Amino acid sequence: MLKVYNYNQLSATEIQKLTLRNTDAGNEIRETVENILANVKQNGDVALREYALQFDKVTLDNLFTDENELAKLTERVSDEQKEAIKTAYQNIYKFHKTQFRQEEKVETMPGVTCWRELRPIEKVGLYIPGGTAVLPSTFLMLGIPAKIAGCKEIVVCSPPQKDGKINPFIAFVAQLLGVKEVFLVGGAQAVAAMAYGTESIPKVDKIFGPGNQYVTKAKTIIQSTTVTAIDMPAGPSEVLIIADESANPVFVAADLLAQAEHGVDSQSVLVSTSQQLIDETIAELEKQLPILPRSEITKKAIANSYAVFTADLLEAMDFSNQYAPEHLILATDNWKLITEKIINAGSVFLGNLTPESAGDYASGTNHTLPTSAYARAYSGVSVDSFVKKITFQHLTSEGIKSIGKTVEILAELEGLQAHKNAVSVRT
Ligand code: NAD
Repeated sequence: MLKVYNYNQLSATEIQKLTLRNTDAGNEIRETVENILANVKQNGDVALREYALQFDKVTLDNLFTDENELAKLTERVSDEQKEAIKTAYQNIYKFHKTQFRQEEKVETMPGVTCWRELRPIEKVGLYIPGGTAVLPSTFLMLGIPAKIAGCKEIVVCSPPQKDGKINPFIAFVAQLLGVKEVFLVGGAQAVAAMAYGTESIPKVDKIFGPGNQYVTKAKTIIQSTTVTAIDMPAGPSEVLIIADESANPVFVAADLLAQAEHGVDSQSVLVSTSQQLIDETIAELEKQLPILPRSEITKKAIANSYAVFTADLLEAMDFSNQYAPEHLILATDNWKLITEKIINAGSVFLGNLTPESAGDYASGTNHTLPTSAYARAYSGVSVDSFVKKITFQHLTSEGIKSIGKTVEILAELEGLQAHKNAVSVRT
């Protein structure tokens, strides 16, 4: 089950090792992904069909799912399921809508006005995972901010299901969002298709979405080798739970398992000030895990997880900041005391009644978040991820006079005479 460490007995090197995630040390994933990228770049749709057969075990005549097909698939979604998806849609929309804000103009000197305006990224590609579990929730999390931002072209790729079709829930979300370009492609080959373009899949300006290690590696490679940008490296999911004696071991175990069932490479970490809570949580894991439908996957992820015993909540937070978790749960009645000490985390869940699942699906916040310690420098997806902020400035005749001398002196000290002249000819 869960390995347990004592924070005070760990050396700095041991802590660093514990906070390391899947690193692809042997570069095996990189090699596989580089081959896939090169094949798709050269052979386009032919390569995509080959990979559908190899990885998804389906023969595809057509990679595109048209509107009629989408409409037909949504008939398989029950009314209750449609209502739940719509409620999630409304909450996510409400929360993200407030992020679309035009900024004030600023007069930095008399007659010198500067400001920023938002413009949507025109063509965006959304990757919706669909290997071991299909995630229509991810489609909401990416599609809603893309719509609010006003992106003109939204291309969606998701792996084909066993019947060679797109999942019906993905089809329903596509209808809700009014997205028409839905393609049956998964993995690194989907990222390649959206970065290079193929006969049927358009090239996009930015690729969004989480995925397994192949998807994430493909995104990091295309980011450095093409002009297509990515949202962030959002790889295998992880949670870190800080819990004290006020936490409920039944809840803590359920939250650790919720994360672990994502994939064998997911990680669940418990950091606790109470040895009793750790023991009781381990006992609960043993009870709850075997009866899960995805217990095989979950067991492997839990074997890759651990608990850390700390002297107090501040020490627990110190470990958490070094780990920089994608999801951080503060399972303590005293969460208000430590919230301001959080430095690195993707998304935070406060108190004993706030499960991560609420944010995964429906509370309103985005679930596409930085993993593998990227929370040190990256934020999760938001409307900001789908816009560019262009700076503007305007100088009046008073403006060019008030700023002129300063620019001339600075241009001269850098030895750039033409820069100085561009001001001098106006003054
Ligand atoms: P996926 O859609 O990411 O990947 C499935 C595809 O991977 C397949 O279609 C196939 O093309 C490719 N693939 C599978 N095995 C391969 C191999 N051996 N070589 C090359 N390609 C191969 O679906 P998934 O596998 O279920 O993974 C989803 C991931 O997304 C999980 O790891 C989950 O933790 C993560 N996730 C992360 C976030 C986040 O915000 N960070 C959110 C949701 C999900």
